[in-house]
This record gives sequence, structure tokens and C-alpha cells, in this order.
Amino acid sequence: MQFNEIFTVLRKYLSDGYDVPSFFREFVQMITDVPESDWDTPKDPSGKCKDNTLKSYASRGLSKKFARSIVYKLDTCNLEDRLHNLPRQAADGLVEDMNKFDSSININNYPEKIADHICDNIKDSAGLVPQEKVDKDAAMKQSSRLKNNYGDALLRESQSYCSFPGCAKPLYKESYGKTQWVYEVVMIDKDKNNDISNLLAACPDCHATYLLDNDSKLLKRLLSIKNVISKATLADLAVGDIKIEQGLTTALEKIKNLNVQELAKATFDPKKIEDKIDPKKEPALYMLNRTHVSSYYLTVREILRNYDKKGVLDYEELQEQMKGLYRKLKKKNMSQMEIFEHITSKIKTSTRHESIICQIIVAYFVQNCEVFDAISK
Ligand SMILES: [Zn+2]
Repeated sequence: MQFNEIFTVLRKYLSDGYDVPSFFREFVQMITDVPESDWDTPKDPSGKCKDNTLKSYASRGLSKKFARSIVYKLDTCNLEDRLHNLPRQAADGLVEDMNKFDSSININNYPEKIADHICDNIKDSAGLVPQEKVDKDAAMKQSSRLKNNYGDALLRESQSYCSFPGCAKPLYKESYGKTQWVYEVVMIDKDKNNDISNLLAACPDCHATYLLDNDSKLLKRLLSIKNVISKATLADLAVGDIKIEQGLTTALEKIKNLNVQELAKATFDPKKIEDKIDPKKEPALYMLNRTHVSSYYLTVREILRNYDKKGVLDYEELQEQMKGLYRKLKKKNMSQMEIFEHITSKIKTSTRHESIICQIIVAYFVQNCEVFDAISK
């Protein structure tokens, strides 16, 4: 069944008189949760997809790019609900119109059948391998074998969220205090062996779609995601035994509550940041540190020294801890961005303060030279 055939019939029964582009937008919302801004299609300067492009999809079928931008997010529940709730007379008319293309559609199965046709059509446009060419049973057996061997490690690495770009569905369900894991193990490169470096934990939907997908761009993206998350796990283990000064929790509380007027009186010229973070290579990290150092450096220094005097924390010890964290992470070949993030998250886990507050303290130690070496020029 062609996309334009399905679309035309649905528009007749579901559109409430909308024009083609408006109904197209509503239709995509009924079968996915992807916002229009994420559709891969030409946009006008207002950020909306061009009406003419949508009209052409409606009459000639979806482009591969467009289909790929929604194929991992298909969820036809809303569409099926709308179809189930059609008044009987409209439902009869719709079934009759659909029968011209598929005679197996009837009044009892039409919502599910139509949803299946739409999904097949979009998967086809996205360039996925037809379902029947993939041995799904074998893939499920393999996933369950891999879960037994590597499941715990993969779940920890993914932090219990689907690893596919833009998905991030939780890989568990919780009820009455019991956790039930809901996930599958994906072989990133299907032609390679099932070594853990080639495996990712994913939600069942992404797993099922990826079985049909041989897109090389996505494969590369998944390898790079794997690289980032497995490095983070290694880094966690490497710095696991470094303790953070307990008194830092108190200092962060104080920093969190500093008011803007107080801070404005003690701004600092953050010249040295350029010697540590190359603005060309890491512009976002550079700007973030610049801002934090210029607003907070002097005040944070005073707070830390003051707490050191009062015995709330040991400032020298804290400096050593920051140096230690930096050295260990640097040895893991992490980028400056990754190191900054990781020290922030280590402080966050130790103090249970928000990331934003923890970043301020990491920026302080960047300026203070415990984190990052001077760039050789
Ligand atoms: Zn997913």
C-alpha cells in the first residue's frame, strides 16, 4: 500500500477539513513524538517545514531523509485510538475505502492493520531491510544470551537509559518497589563479533528497528556513543577511590546562595583561562569557565580559605584531590570537556549538589591550576 493512498483515505476521515500540510503535521504527531523542528526536511526561516515539501510527501511518498528522522520514534497508539473512536458510519466508510488496497482489512482489525501499513511504509522509505528477511527469533535468542553475559555491565554503562541517539527511554519499569528490566542487547556492527566493545543496551523498540537497519552513518554514531560511555565507566573506576573533602558540601551550599550584588562587587579578570583551554578547540568549555571564573573566583577563594581557617575543610587536601582527579582522568585519554564533566559529576555524587553549582567549583580549580595543564605555546 502506497503512502499517498493511506494518507488520502485517513485525511478524508480524520482531518476535520484541514488542508494537506496541516493534516500532515497532525498525522506525524499521531504516529510519533517527534517535534516538527526535528523533521529532516527543508524549513522556511520561521522554522516550520515548508508546506510544499509536505504536500509533495503526501502525494509522492516520504523522502528517505524524512523517514529516517522519524523511523526510530514510531508509536502509533494515538492514531489507533483516533481510529478506534471513529463513529460507526465513518469507520465503515474508511474500511470500504481501505479494502481497495488491502482486502484483509475489516471493521474489527482496521486500526492495527492501518498502523502496520504505515510503519512498514515508513521503514521501507527509510531504507530498512524488509522484516521477513531478518531472523527475529535468532536475534532475540542472541540478545538474551548476551544479556546473561554482559547485561549488568551494559546497563551500568548506559545508566539504565536506551543508548540510541535521541531515544533515552528508561530500560526499566518500576512497580511497588520492584524493578523490572526491559531492554535488549544490540550488536553495533552486525558483521563483527559479540565482544562487549561492540554491544549496547537499548530499548526493545530501537533494538527491533536496528535489526532491519544497515545505515552506516548510524553505525558510526553508535560506535562513538559506545566510546564515550565506556570511557566514562572506566574513568569512574579510575577515580572511584578518591574521596572528596566533606566540607566541600558546606562550601557549595554557601556558593549556591551567593547573591548577584555581592558577586558583582568582586569580579575577576579571567585572563589565564586561555592558557588552559584553547578557545578555538573547546569554545563552549572556554566560555563557561570564563564566565564562572570572572563572577565567582574571588568570592569562592575567600569562602574556601575561610572554611579552611575554621576547620570546616582542608583546603590543601582539596587541592590535592582535584589534582589527583585530573591526573587520573588525563591518563585515560579523556578530552578536556570529558574531564571537566567527569570531575563535575564526581563532585555532584559526593556532595549531592546540583551540576551547575559543582561546575563553579571545577572552574575555580581550572583557574587555580589544579585542573588542566597550561597549553604549551
Ligand atoms: Zn530506544
